[in-house]
Amino acid sequence: MYTCGPTVYDYAHIGNFRTFVFQDLLRRWLEYRGYEVTQVMNLTDVDDRTINGSREAGIPLNAYTKQYIDAFLEHKRRLNIEEAEVYPRATEHVDEMVAFVKKLMEKGYAYKAEDGSIYYDISKFKDYGKLSKLKLDELKAGARVKVDTYEKEQAWDFALWKAWDEADGDVFWETEIGKGRPGWHLECSVMSMKYLGETLDIHSGGVDLIFPHHENEIAQSEAVTGKKFVNYWLHGEHLMVEGQRMAKSLGNFYTLQDLLDKGCNPRAVRYLLLSTHYRQQLNFTFEGLKAAEKAVERLILFNQRLIETNGEPAGEELKKLLKATKEDFEAAMDDDLNITEALATLFDFVRDVNRMIDQGKVSRSEAEAVRDLLMRFDSVLAVIGEAKKELLPKEIEELIQKREQARKVKDWKTADEIRQKLFDMGIILEDTAAGVKWRRKS
Ligand SMILES: [Zn+2]
Repeated sequence: MYTCGPTVYDYAHIGNFRTFVFQDLLRRWLEYRGYEVTQVMNLTDVDDRTINGSREAGIPLNAYTKQYIDAFLEHKRRLNIEEAEVYPRATEHVDEMVAFVKKLMEKGYAYKAEDGSIYYDISKFKDYGKLSKLKLDELKAGARVKVDTYEKEQAWDFALWKAWDEADGDVFWETEIGKGRPGWHLECSVMSMKYLGETLDIHSGGVDLIFPHHENEIAQSEAVTGKKFVNYWLHGEHLMVEGQRMAKSLGNFYTLQDLLDKGCNPRAVRYLLLSTHYRQQLNFTFEGLKAAEKAVERLILFNQRLIETNGEPAGEELKKLLKATKEDFEAAMDDDLNITEALATLFDFVRDVNRMIDQGKVSRSEAEAVRDLLMRFDSVLAVIGEAKKELLPKEIEELIQKREQARKVKDWKTADEIRQKLFDMGIILEDTAAGVKWRRKS
């Protein structure tokens, strides 16, 4: 699986992370289903924007990009996104890119322009436009586009290799194809095939990458290998903020750090980002984030409660529920990651089991079976985590002992006072045949 990674000229924003979280959900679901996943995520550490940024900041390119790479990897971890197997960097694969451009030139798909830059001749690739459903009736013969991102109207020959000019400062490589640097599209063809072979099972990115980035990757790769480049493309839709496009100029632009600084829980952020189907636009709101926090808390409390559950066996009723829940969750996720359906199944399950526990049902071993399933689901959702086997603070332990003694001598008044005192401290006592039990107020 190849997932286009960040261009490290700035901190990744939550729109970027929406895509990375969706890809993580995909990866984790494949693993749940028993696939062995090898994921490659590139880091674009040389392009127009990284060069501009480093020059403006007056620091070398690699020092400039390092701070954003470090932040990106840290934020990924905070969001419980599994590590990719490889994070190749563009600057470390220039030799391979040069070799790749030479092949394209030999095969007649690329040519050198007057300034020494090398362009891909899209008229030579008959399938050009197949991914983005682009019609090339009015192909402008020989028209070229040098920047990395452009509109469909500018579906012209694009730059594989950019000859050095002053704006690049000290960022260049002296190579067989000239002095310059690679274009953005080139790196993903080269690095994906280097680590994953000529045909990838899965390639993914945000919808904004369909054109021109992925279209160009197909053109480059298939021209060189003559083989199908990618079996499955998956593209994540955009994220809006409070119904608007996210933009620095609108003041609604958030990095993960911005949200953490506001006291948001990273698990809730993850939950919110994954809980809308990846092919639908996600409207990020702070109200939605609050709801996500509640949802996550509900799951965590449920998990905690299961550890302390020790009721009468629920038997067949629970057995059936476990089976149906597992089947429904799996069927939903198998259906193009239908997360909405999967989460609905999960919360119905939580409600039903809670009701059984309220009725004094669900034995210790049954509670463990419920937890096993919950943890299995969480290997995909990654929002619950491990429950804490809590030890009671000494003070509370002593109060419980005192109350037990009071009950023995039938001093109900003292016993009730202590019960109330514990309740005020957030501890609920239950007197059962097996002795006194406690749980925390939820
Ligand atoms: Zn890419």
